[in-house]
Amino acid sequence: MNTAKRHEIFRRLAAANPHPTTELEYATPFELLVAVTLSAQATDKGVNLATRRLFPVANTPEAIYALGEAGLSEYIRTIGLYKSKAKHIIAACRMLIDLHGSQVPHDRAALESLPGVGRKTANVILNTAFGEPTMAVDTHIFRVANRTGLAPGKTVLAVEKKLLKNVPQAFLVDAHHWLILHGRYVCQARKPKCAECIIADLCEYKDKTWPAPQQPAAPRKPAARPRKTTAGRNPRAASTRD
Ligand code: SF4
Repeated sequence: MNTAKRHEIFRRLAAANPHPTTELEYATPFELLVAVTLSAQATDKGVNLATRRLFPVANTPEAIYALGEAGLSEYIRTIGLYKSKAKHIIAACRMLIDLHGSQVPHDRAALESLPGVGRKTANVILNTAFGEPTMAVDTHIFRVANRTGLAPGKTVLAVEKKLLKNVPQAFLVDAHHWLILHGRYVCQARKPKCAECIIADLCEYKDKTWPAPQQPAAPRKPAARPRKTTAGRNPRAASTRD
């Protein structure tokens, strides 16, 4: 895909949604860290339902650490893998308190050293909490990057590196949100909505889906004429009268 096409793709995505952001609800970098940790293999909606109950009660490393794994689990048990997530979050809280003054570090290595925080989560925090031009490649971004031809690659890391190289500088900070939202709502895994896609003419995917062509309506048959019966009356009724 050439530079002009890539620029036009992001120009359109930006025009359609000038201020994209995560659908996870959070008010501080720490809340975002907890929400992103919970969101692995879970929906943002499911995470928001849990954190709407949790954050009013505990939204600092000290407060969540004080809940303990069992106490935290009570708030997040509707989320998949909640036991291991509770364990990781409690351990991360301990490290934040001991090593980072209870603040989320603005540093990739320090973030990735926290329990339950991998490269993708670190990228989300660096991008969404700190405005860094990072690319947190999830399943949606991986699919959209490959289908469109924006940044084809066999691994998540290969796609991340290509996107960082290929996305025009002006769009780099917000690109990850535009691509996630495009993948979640338009370029869906099983059946992409190509007919509704604002970048369909720029996308290089070979198997775009279009609505089936309308068949011309079949000519209407004239209504069947009623069959004549003997003397125009019901023969059965006649026999009963005799
Ligand atoms: S045209 Fe289809 S395949 Fe290409 S980005 Fe849009 S929805 Fe995805």
